[in-house]
Amino acid sequence: MFAARYEPGRKSLIVQDIPTPELRPHEVLLKIQAAGICHSDLHVLDGEVPFPNSFTMGHEGCGQLVEKASEAPADLKIGGTYAVHGPNPCGNCVYCRTGHDNLCNDPGRSWIGLGEDGAYADYLKVAARNVVEVPAGVSPAVAAVATDAVLTPYHAMKTLANIRMEQTVLVLGLGGLGSNGVQIALALGAYVIASDIRDSSLELARTLGAHEVVHAQELDGKVKGKKIDVVADFVGRESTFTQAQMLVRPGGIILLIGLGASNVPLATVAAAGSEIRVQGSFWGTSVELGELLRHIADGKIRPEVETGNLEDVSNWLEELRSGKVRSRMALVPKVA
Ligand SMILES: [Zn+2]
Ligand SMILES: [Zn+2]
Repeated sequence: MFAARYEPGRKSLIVQDIPTPELRPHEVLLKIQAAGICHSDLHVLDGEVPFPNSFTMGHEGCGQLVEKASEAPADLKIGGTYAVHGPNPCGNCVYCRTGHDNLCNDPGRSWIGLGEDGAYADYLKVAARNVVEVPAGVSPAVAAVATDAVLTPYHAMKTLANIRMEQTVLVLGLGGLGSNGVQIALALGAYVIASDIRDSSLELARTLGAHEVVHAQELDGKVKGKKIDVVADFVGRESTFTQAQMLVRPGGIILLIGLGASNVPLATVAAAGSEIRVQGSFWGTSVELGELLRHIADGKIRPEVETGNLEDVSNWLEELRSGKVRSRMALVPKVA
């Protein structure tokens, strides 16, 4: 089968013809219908996050279940469409057993498409517990990007920050994740202020229904003094993180979602004096993935997605690198 693979030390994917995976107990085989591409792939290929082994890339997968091991749960349907929970949790460790399976630290497994074989292939095998059924009406392309680009802001905003009605949320950075973040905050009932440096992104936020849209350079003057309960920083650079500290209300939360810089400064005296909480976040849980797919099916969240051919994944990753992908991109196999 076709597979686009990471090789340690190589800066681009290598396309190979490899055997279709054989199932071990408790696994299922998906025929890939869509695979999202992500900046994390570029960080890995650039050597910033090195892996010692080679593997098929692609951590945002969705496919049709075509085979399952006899031990796999009876309710998984042959022919059904399933999204892959990329963290690939073990199901047994204390994090998995307490509902925090995004934090699974079992040393025996790694993430799908980031250490373990992923979705840039004709087929993907995965532990049966790590697939989530895609509801009718949600396309494989949307489900694929939902597994990361929607799940990550959903986990941060709904679960970690507990955003709810009557709260005011400031979203900094309106790229693929941030524009989904605007929709999630609106779906949770919040008053949403959206900010970016790009006029086209501000226009998008307006069409998504943000209550206020403010250019980043005008933010301090226009927003200061408003009681902002949560600042969701989808950029994670010094400029946005500093703005977040100035604008969040005492006792409020700064969600650190974007990781644009490896270090950002924290004004310790001010942060202590106003009891600001800085909340890190990582991906999302399998339960949340199921929830948000239902929100998408209900039309409460409508992720923007562009599509291209899966076989051209290397070219699309270069397009992503050069900033030509406007929202999020899911690659689909050519129709045979
Ligand atoms: Zn990703
Ligand atoms: Zn675990």
